[in-house]
Amino acid sequence: MQEEEIHAVLTRVLLAGRLPGGLKLGEHHLAEIFGVSRERVRKVLHRLGAERLLDMVRNRGAFTLAPDLREGHVVYEARRILESGMAAHLAANLTPAQIERLRRHVEAEAEALRCGDQATWQRLSAEFHYLLAELTGNPLVQRHAQELISRTLMLVKRYETSAGSACGCDEHRAIFRALAARERGKAVKAMTTHLSLVETRLRPTLCEPVGPSVEDVVTEELARHQAGVVPLAEAG
Ligand SMILES: [Zn+2]
Repeated sequence: MQEEEIHAVLTRVLLAGRLPGGLKLGEHHLAEIFGVSRERVRKVLHRLGAERLLDMVRNRGAFTLAPDLREGHVVYEARRILESGMAAHLAANLTPAQIERLRRHVEAEAEALRCGDQATWQRLSAEFHYLLAELTGNPLVQRHAQELISRTLMLVKRYETSAGSACGCDEHRAIFRALAARERGKAVKAMTTHLSLVETRLRPTLCEPVGPSVEDVVTEELARHQAGVVPLAEAG
């Protein structure tokens, strides 16, 4: 398997926040999973370190990022700055088709919540923010939003007070309504309030949650990659 492909698989694993923070990613272990040399894995890990998707610790190796709540505040602040700008831009520029797409998304979120489908609801509520970034049509905004959102997903997984308390469905609906009505000020306020509320729902936990193993998560993502499930646009 080529470096590019290994990089794509690991990037998806790390951005999805599916591994607990501070976990060591052993070169030897990954080399076995991918069926490649340790040198090839080492190159990819260094690249991921340079991209700030991993912590490279001298003489100790690669570790998943372990965001703490203080760092979390900085990340949420960055999200408020970026996403309130996105909301302002979208309120002025959304096409009727895009508004319709957003409406369907918010409805799907509400439906998943109504059915008690926690997993789908959590996925959709994170995707709401990815979708807004995508609708700006600006690849730089999209890339930065994706990085920030992924960082907060890691925080939510570690610190949320109760399962699924991350994004309020009504808050997403309020953002959507303001955007659909093209009310710029309201949309900015709804987004800022929402992200502040999400942040206040995080609480430090006393013990580390038990996460899935590196092997399980990487192997699963590798299988998706090989089955071609990953859309081309996301593969890089
Ligand atoms: Zn949200």
